[in-house]
Amino acid sequence: MKDKNKKIHVFKSEVKELLHLMIHSLYSNKEIFLRELISNASDAIEKLRFEKLYNPEKYTKNTYIPKIQISVKKTENEIIISDNGIGMTEKEVINNLGTIAKSGTKSFLNQMKNIKNQEKNEFIGQFGVGFYSSFIVSEKVSVYTKHASAKKTESGILWISEGKGEYSIEKFSTKEHGTKIVLSLKPSEQEFLDNWKVKQIIKKYSDHISIPIEIDNYDKKTKIISWEKINEAQALWTQNKNNIKKKDYQEFYKYITHDSEKPLTWSHNTVEGNQEYISLLYIPKKATWDMWHRENKHGLKLYVKHVFIMDEATQFLPNYLRFVKGIIDSQDLPLNISREILQDSSITNILRKTLTKRILKILHTLSLDNDKKYQKFWNIFGLVIKEGLAEDSENQKIIANLLRFSSIQVGSEEQTLSLKRYIDNMVKGQNKIYFLTSDSYKSALNSPHLEIFKEKKIDVLLLSDRIDEWMMNYLTDYNNIKFQSVSKADDSLKELISNQNNNNDDKKIFDNFIEKIKKILKNKVKDVRITYRLNNTPAIVLTDTNDMSTQMAKIFSAAGQPIPKIKYILEINPTHPLVKKIQKIDNELEFSNWIKILFEQSVLAEKGTLENPHIFINRLNTLLLQ
Ligand code: ADP
Ligand code: MG
Repeated sequence: MKDKNKKIHVFKSEVKELLHLMIHSLYSNKEIFLRELISNASDAIEKLRFEKLYNPEKYTKNTYIPKIQISVKKTENEIIISDNGIGMTEKEVINNLGTIAKSGTKSFLNQMKNIKNQEKNEFIGQFGVGFYSSFIVSEKVSVYTKHASAKKTESGILWISEGKGEYSIEKFSTKEHGTKIVLSLKPSEQEFLDNWKVKQIIKKYSDHISIPIEIDNYDKKTKIISWEKINEAQALWTQNKNNIKKKDYQEFYKYITHDSEKPLTWSHNTVEGNQEYISLLYIPKKATWDMWHRENKHGLKLYVKHVFIMDEATQFLPNYLRFVKGIIDSQDLPLNISREILQDSSITNILRKTLTKRILKILHTLSLDNDKKYQKFWNIFGLVIKEGLAEDSENQKIIANLLRFSSIQVGSEEQTLSLKRYIDNMVKGQNKIYFLTSDSYKSALNSPHLEIFKEKKIDVLLLSDRIDEWMMNYLTDYNNIKFQSVSKADDSLKELISNQNNNNDDKKIFDNFIEKIKKILKNKVKDVRITYRLNNTPAIVLTDTNDMSTQMAKIFSAAGQPIPKIKYILEINPTHPLVKKIQKIDNELEFSNWIKILFEQSVLAEKGTLENPHIFINRLNTLLLQ
């Protein structure tokens, strides 16, 4: 029998395409239909609130208690989602539910054709398919709606579709405004006909929607239906800071991270103006097990207008801050944002910049206020922070302030010395920050390069983390003071030292000696000279200012990279008994052997290896026998 009242409409072509895609289900993540319908309901309520504020004359003046209600009707095979929001007029129903208003839908659908099947799932999910996602689980969807500005006596609009190309529209009589969506579930989707399951999904996605979401519980004995509020209905981060207890913040951290420990510190900010957003950022006490895995998941939970959008939105933090946990709730991003779009969004970029600055500030403040706490942080996350020097040149200065080092004066392997304190302790005339990179703290501490520094009480940073050599390529100065590797040639050190002891006579006396050495070593060395750096060691090798350091060369060769051969500068300590002895040797062959030994042992001390160890040993044995 034909209903005169009922009109049949055909979907616009792109709706058909989208429906087809979804129904022939690419979807592994079916449950998001609830999220989409709830966030539509929440939008409708927000719109009504707004309308009532700006066009009060159109609406009746009653107290308005917004709510979203869900009923699971097992026997009828239905899930019902209703809201008392703004509702829709007939025209709006046709426009909103018969077409896709989303910009970029076309290009989205085109892109879909080019990607692999298994990736489509995720892709669709990220696009935010909105209302149409209800067809993933439903064989029929009925929408009962009435606009809030309609008179009590006016009828509402009933929209029905099976998601197959057409929909019908008819009138129905109702006094209430708002929207009720009845999903008639497919036989294969019966699992959703379960209060517990529905509650769980809502908790997961919509817990922090600020509007109460209720589910009905039917008591078979008393035959009474009672409504149970499922969500918190007020997100922690949207509450006034002054009303939030320390314990609440800590519990919330545990809830979002599944960390059993309390966070080290956190920062909660509500920002208005150009970009409106709320951020709640936590610094954990310990690293997650996968912090060093490439495929590690990290990032912030993203909300848009209090609606949960995605976990692990990595776009808001640079990689070196991957240990930070928390939430960003933006007012400006669209609800249906995908990861791809997020990546390129200018809003995202602005947010990343401000959040990065904020986190660095939290850490800097912590380092100033609470040395002990900061030290804990540094011991665990210091290595990651060091990556920031290369990754984030814009914030290099503040990152440099966060660094902690071991040094001669620190006297232990623990990295506790800040650059600021290093500078405060510089000796008179010192205008460089000296450092030594090495394989281990022990080998750094015992390096002959440190002899003069130890003697003159000039501190040297001792760097032995694997990343350090690489990091020092990016860290060239601090507060306009240059960094200087003590294993490299450096004229200013000579000045600093010779200011303190005037022993220039040595040089002339040894000129002849040096010339002889040069003739023996020839192009094995870049230069030979008298040292001012040594006490207990007869000789040392240095790399030239612009040459690759030994430590860097080691890293390169460990990574299988070709490296230019390093030519060292050999420095001789004229006060050492061995050197004095060699100097007196007349036999040319013996002299030459001694010089080669001197050079090779210096290289050995520097690199830890020799190209031809057996030649060195033979030479040494010969000399030992003499
Ligand atoms: P989006 O929410 O991204 O706009 P949807 O497909 O989810 O896209 O919804 C399409 C449109 O349908 C919405 O923009 C809104 O105008 C309308 N709509 C959907 N659900 C409701 C509802 N519960 N109340 C009022 N209008 C709704
Ligand atoms: Mg929507």
